[in-house]
Order: sequence, then structure tokens, then C-alpha cells
Amino acid sequence: METKQFKAESKKLLDMMINSIYTHKEIFLRELISNASDAIDKLYFKSLTDHNIDMSREDFKIMLDVNKEKRTIVLEDNGIGMTLDELENNLGTIAKSGSLDFKKENDLSKDDIGVIGQFGVGFYSAFMVSKEVIVESKAYGEEKSYIWCSKGVDGYTIEESDKKEVGTKITLVIKDNTDEENYDEFLEQYRLQGIIKKYSDYIRYPIKMNVSKQRLKDGTGTGDVAAEYESYTEIETINSMVPIWKKQKSELTQEDYNNFYKDKYFDFTDPCLTIHSKTEGTVTYSSLMFVPSKTPYNYYSKEYEKGLQLYSNGVLIMDKCADLLPDYFGFVKGLVDSEDLSLNISREMLQHDRQLKLISKSIQKKIKSELLKMLKSDREKYEEFYKNFGLQLKFGLYENYGMNKDELKDLVMFKSSLDKKYVTLSEYVSRMKEEQKDIYYASGESIERIDTLPQTELVKDKGFEILYFTDDVDEFAIQMMHEYDGKTFKSISSENLDLETEEEKKNLEQQLNDNKDLFEFMKDSLSGKVKNVVLTQRLKSHPVCLTAQGNISLEMEKVLNAMPTNEQKVKADRVLEINVNHKIFEKLKELYNTDKEKLKKYTELLYTQACLIEGFDVEDPVEFSNIICDLMLD
Ligand code: ADP
Repeated sequence: METKQFKAESKKLLDMMINSIYTHKEIFLRELISNASDAIDKLYFKSLTDHNIDMSREDFKIMLDVNKEKRTIVLEDNGIGMTLDELENNLGTIAKSGSLDFKKENDLSKDDIGVIGQFGVGFYSAFMVSKEVIVESKAYGEEKSYIWCSKGVDGYTIEESDKKEVGTKITLVIKDNTDEENYDEFLEQYRLQGIIKKYSDYIRYPIKMNVSKQRLKDGTGTGDVAAEYESYTEIETINSMVPIWKKQKSELTQEDYNNFYKDKYFDFTDPCLTIHSKTEGTVTYSSLMFVPSKTPYNYYSKEYEKGLQLYSNGVLIMDKCADLLPDYFGFVKGLVDSEDLSLNISREMLQHDRQLKLISKSIQKKIKSELLKMLKSDREKYEEFYKNFGLQLKFGLYENYGMNKDELKDLVMFKSSLDKKYVTLSEYVSRMKEEQKDIYYASGESIERIDTLPQTELVKDKGFEILYFTDDVDEFAIQMMHEYDGKTFKSISSENLDLETEEEKKNLEQQLNDNKDLFEFMKDSLSGKVKNVVLTQRLKSHPVCLTAQGNISLEMEKVLNAMPTNEQKVKADRVLEINVNHKIFEKLKELYNTDKEKLKKYTELLYTQACLIEGFDVEDPVEFSNIICDLMLD
């Protein structure tokens, strides 16, 4: 018989499995049981519409049998089965494409288990404990059945078999013990029972097992007759079959939730937040939701699909119901179960379903209130959460013209100049100085960079806190919000900061008036690069800074122009501000009267300096260098 090779990627994954990157080998059983349960789901669904299938729900089951002598575990289901093609394609290659490309690109090692965990590597995990795996399957509606057999990386064989019943039977030949690893434990029935209880208790079909027991022999153990025992086997259902979300909270431990989460949503890390609730009223539903502790590797990409599983009274009707979650809570995983939904409702119908809309609203509220609760009760955890998904919340503020700002404004945080720690907007407002009118922020690529901005000096001097906007979306999001608690957001680089005293204002105005011609000259000499040249009171030690008039800030200009789709470049209206208290101002005045050519050069240099400080490139490096050289030779 010809031995076929595994597809290249599968071989690698198989290698990893055999050399076990999983720390918990026991999960092989949960993987195989999940597959069996899925296969039964498929046939059960079919049976709802296909009346040739003469089976009712009660007939479906998963059978488990252990044989210590032969070192085998046999797992049999009466689900939909696999055709020859399916055996080839599902077990000969990795079903979930892309996973291995990802691995290749990123050269995963043992430490990257979390990443691997995000792909259902399911079936292959059988090789962690088995020296041989045999899969015999008969697909629904097929005449023939087949037997697939593999001892690992060398490949696999497939031949016809004579299985009578539709379904799949998987035989694992368990590895022999080694110095480091004990495999015998997986042949102990109590151990298998324990694993099933731990990971697969909620599976909706009975997992039945031949359990050997002891009983008192008839007629012994009474009167004078010494007790004698005999062994017998009994078929027991191991799992409770009650979905975890239908159980009472008091019956469950966090570990139960964690196991369920990791099993169902392919994660190796416990969730950072678990929300389990039952709602009764206009709509009745249970929900079990989780916020992951880590950002899924593809979260901020198009590939990521948000959504909750939708159940109608314990039966899965949709795997990723996107309508249940707004984009800004797209990181939430979990499920909703409602009796109010009909079983064979279609995707299109769901979109217009009134019940679903109500559920979705109620869920959003719930998520928000649980996040706020976490913010209050466990700040550290919330900040951890925020590092992962805060960006998403800020996108949410910006989307749809700020439609969701009221939902989200209390969930966002920014780092602040006070202590470089996260602060919520309400915290910021609560510690605003009495004379402070606005909420100050500064945009830039990093906190360090922002701190060097000349404009920050005076604001900090006044003891006002500055929020650091280091994500591209920040300033856009805040523009949509416009204000918080009646306080307007103000960029420290915006035109009118209004920080001066009356006296300072007067002085400034006077100076501007007295030197109108100078500023006009400077503006002209910059030939269109700036809208204006003005004097400023806002700078302390720096001679100049660049600010923007109008709605587009300098940072926004950078962000918008960096987008690949924006062919037409935007430009903020730039203003060159000269420090009224700096010696350079005196120098400029002097030059205006003595040497206009030099003043031109100075103006160009000051403008370039201001651009560099703001993080812009020098527009004409050659000219810049020539001017400097000229001045050096002066
Ligand atoms: P996943 O379950 O994540 O898709 P697996 O490697 O566990 O990946 O399984 C690959 C595919 O093989 C499944 O999607 C399913 O189509 C098929 N399969 C596995 N086990 C069974 C089974 N017991 N009955 C029918 N099909 C199965």
C-alpha cells in the first residue's frame, strides 16, 4: 500500500505537535471530542430538514473506550463522518490555511504557544500522546467507508473499510513511557474522566464511557459469608451536558470559565475579564463573554472577524454573529443564548430581527458597565486591558462622526504630563486648576518627543496637565468629542491658548503693532510657506515655534499625508511664532533696519528650526546648508 506524504506545512506542524509545544498534553482529548461534537452538530442540523435521516437528538452520542493491554483509546461518534476527499484534505493537511505561513514568517518557537493556540490545530494534537492514529470514517450519504492511518511525520495511508454506521471512529495507540514523560496515565479511566469533566463537560451530546467497577458478589458479605467482589463494566455518561452558561454562577469557579474560554476561543491565556449574565425582561437571554488578556495577533487587521456565537436554547445557530457587537467592542469573545430566537433563522432575517437588536443594545451596556467596574476596582488590570484594546476604543470615538462618544468617553485614557501615567478624562477634569479653562493636549510620535516641544513649557509652568496624544487617531477622536464635561479640548499648538495675563496681552499687542512691517516682511520672505508670522508669549526658552490655524493641526497633517490613499496632500495653515521675550526678537528688529538680506536668511533659518522641532523634514536641505555656511563666513 502506498504511503502518502503530508503536505509540507502539515509535516512541520506535526513535528511541533509530536515534540509537543503544548505543555498540557491532556488537551488532545478535548480537541478530539470537540471535533466529534461538531460532526454530530452537522448531522443534527441536516436532520432538521432532511427527513431521510432517521435520528433524533437523543440518538447522538460520543463513545469512549480504553484498553490498557492494547494501549488504545477509541473515540467514536455518530456524526456526519468524512468522505475519502475529506479524510485526505482535513487530516492530510491543515484545515486552517494561513496559520503556517504565519509561523514561517515569524519563526515561532516554544515561547510562542499563544500564537499557535489561536489556530485550531485540533486533530494533530492526537500525536502528542499517540504513536499511531487510525481514523475510520463513513460519511453520511456515502456507500463506502475508509480507514486512514498514520504513525506521524512519515505520512499516512488510506484504504477502504467496511464500517457500517455513519460516523467516525478514532483509535489512538498511546506512546510508551519515556524517562521524562508518563503516557500510561492516559490509559487510566479516572484520568480520562477527569479530563472530560474539566474541558468537555458542557458538550451537548453524551460522552459515554465503559467504566469498570467492582460490586459485592451475590450472596456474599452477609451473615457469615465473607465478602467477595467481582468486576463488571457499565456505560456511564461522563459529562453533565449542561452548557456552562446555563449553570448558576455559584456552581462555577473562575477556572471553569477559563477552561471553557481557552477551549472554545483558541487561546492559551486566561481571559482578563469574564462576563456571565442572565437578562430577563423585554428580551430574555444568557450571555457569557470574555475579554482576552492579549491582543489577538491579527486583531488590528482586516482578517479579524468580530462576533459572538449565537445559540437558540442551547443549539448553536450562528458562529460569528457580528451584529451583536459594535466594532469598538469587537475584541469581546463569547456567546449569547436566547429562547426568543427561532432555530432556523437565516442570516438575512437576523439582520432585521428586533429581538437581536434589543439583545445587542443590552449587551453593549453590559460590556461597558463591566469595563467601568474593572476600571474602578482593578486599575492595573484595566490599564493592561487598555494597552491591548484602547486603540480600538479611540477608533470607536472617531467613527461615525462621534456617534458613540457618550458610550466611550469614560473608557478612554491618555498618558499625562503630571506623572506620565494613564488618566481618564474625568480624573483629568477633577484635578484641573481653578484658573484652568480647557483640557490641554499635545500630539507627537512619543512622550519624549512631545516633552521637547517648545509650546509645552509655559503650560507646564502654569501647573496645567497636558495629555499626550501619541496614537495617530487621538487628535481625530478628540475632535469628534469636542468637549468633556463642558471643558473644551485644546492643543498646546493651537493658535489661541489664552494663557497670558491682561498685561502680557497688552504688551504683545503693542509689540505687534510697533513691528507690523517686520512681520509682514518676514511673512513675504517665506513666500507662502506660512499664513502668518506673529509674536508669542507662550514660549519660555525657545526662540520660535510652529503652530497651526484652523481645523487641521500639524500632527493631523502628518497623519493624513502618511495614509496611502490620500493622493491629495493636505496642508495645515502654518504660523511661525516668535518668542517676544527672546533676544532673537531684538536681533530681528535690528536687522529690519540695517540688513534686510540677512533678515531674510534668518527668517528662513528660524522657520526651518521650527519645522525640525515639530518633526518635519527640511524642505530644501541644500538651501538650508548654504544659508548656514554664508552666515558662518560672515
Ligand atoms: P478544526 O477542528 O480546527 O477545523 P481539526 O484538525 O481538528 O481542525 O480537524 C480538521 C477537520 O477534520 C475538521 O474541520 C473536520 O472537518 C474534520 N474532522 C475532524 N474530526 C472529525 C470527526 N470526528 N468527524 C467528522 N469530521 C471530522
